[in-house]
Amino acid sequence: MQKQSTIYFYGGAGSVTGSNFLLALSEVEGFDSEFKILIDCGLQQGEHTCQDSNWNPFLFEPKDIPFLIVTHAHIDHIGRIPLLVKRGFKGRIISTEATKAVSEPLLLDSMELLGREAERCGNDILYTEADIAAAMALWEDITYHQPVPLEGGVTLELLNSGHILGSAMAKFTRGGKSIVFTGDIGGGNSPLLKEAEPLRGVDYLVMESVYGNRIQPQKDHRREALEDVVEDTARRGGTLLIPAFSNERTQDLLFEVRTLMVEKRVPSMPVYVDSPLAEKITESFVKFPQYFADDIRKRVEGGERIFNFAELRYVSDVEASRKADQAPSPKIIIAGSGMSNGGRVREHEMHVLLDPKSTLLIVGYQAAGSLGRRLVEGLKTAYIGKEKVPVKCKVEAIYAYSAHMDGEQLVEFVNQAADSLKEVFVVMGEPAASSTLVQRIRDYLGVKALAPEAGEKQMIEF
Ligand SMILES: [Zn+2]
Repeated sequence: MQKQSTIYFYGGAGSVTGSNFLLALSEVEGFDSEFKILIDCGLQQGEHTCQDSNWNPFLFEPKDIPFLIVTHAHIDHIGRIPLLVKRGFKGRIISTEATKAVSEPLLLDSMELLGREAERCGNDILYTEADIAAAMALWEDITYHQPVPLEGGVTLELLNSGHILGSAMAKFTRGGKSIVFTGDIGGGNSPLLKEAEPLRGVDYLVMESVYGNRIQPQKDHRREALEDVVEDTARRGGTLLIPAFSNERTQDLLFEVRTLMVEKRVPSMPVYVDSPLAEKITESFVKFPQYFADDIRKRVEGGERIFNFAELRYVSDVEASRKADQAPSPKIIIAGSGMSNGGRVREHEMHVLLDPKSTLLIVGYQAAGSLGRRLVEGLKTAYIGKEKVPVKCKVEAIYAYSAHMDGEQLVEFVNQAADSLKEVFVVMGEPAASSTLVQRIRDYLGVKALAPEAGEKQMIEF
């Protein structure tokens, strides 16, 4: 008789962030009820972190879960792990080596941000350094394609998802059937990473859909586009401010700007990286050359310091951050917090938005309603804290560094496994993006697909 399992869509369904799925398998030896595997335990991110559900109880009992598999080190996939441990999880946490290494500084940074939010909203502290340490003590690292037997004949394998360094799809196999949770999937746009692996022979897929309804410009001319923006800023004698995630996007940009400067394609000017977190993560990156694309791996292993150049200055504290603002232009500032939602980027924005000689460059996904998104959409007056700031600078966007597959790539990704797929669950997207992708998978590929809502469960034959 065919075994049945249930997927619970606790988070990351009907929204981009808060990834949290539970695979509950019946008829596993040694388990009276179900054998439960959690996939990701992320924070919900929005404009107001304290109003959302991050503080709510988990909808399952953490102590009953023997395994947590982590797809990648983005806070919307890992941000509630210390809370999970604080609330009783004692199982094994498994990810790639690069994901584990980068997760610790990310969680410490997020703890500080959440602490400030909690204070502002009168909430309890979500977790402490001790909770993070307890989580790290349960955390094991493996490499891509290293099969790990879990329980009851279930095997885990991590596959490269090409999204950020060490990012993985989690593939579970039992009795000849398989299910893959994609986490986030890259579209081959990072200058540093290998492309996502194609899937074949998979029965079920739980997949992301951030750009499910969009076609992104391809990577062909993106370095030239960046070159143009840097040159234009130099010509106008302004500041080029690039808000960027500390993990992957900052390193992609550092690599690109370094290339432009080393090849003398743009004038030499100081490049400030205002994110102590990004500095730590950049140090981690070079310890894992095996996760880079082959040409980059060879350069790193050959001793080339691919993120270092004479113009680069890491900004360590708030005082140095202010000095970077006051330093003569032209200059480039890459600042933490990719969605312009907080962090030090706010202070820089105050200066840059008011300055007609300067440019704000958006390079990544911007959540609906975020300041970054509204600026790209032509916002004329921004509110930074309580302050009203007229937007006088240039606002540019280069999307060809996107860390996600676009709508066409996602359909093609499913197409490669279409022969074997029984059903696709489309998650981690805004509702319009997810429903568009569902429709395309049904119409173009004839594969059963649906976009579950948060809290929903689905039965599968697994
Ligand atoms: Zn991600």
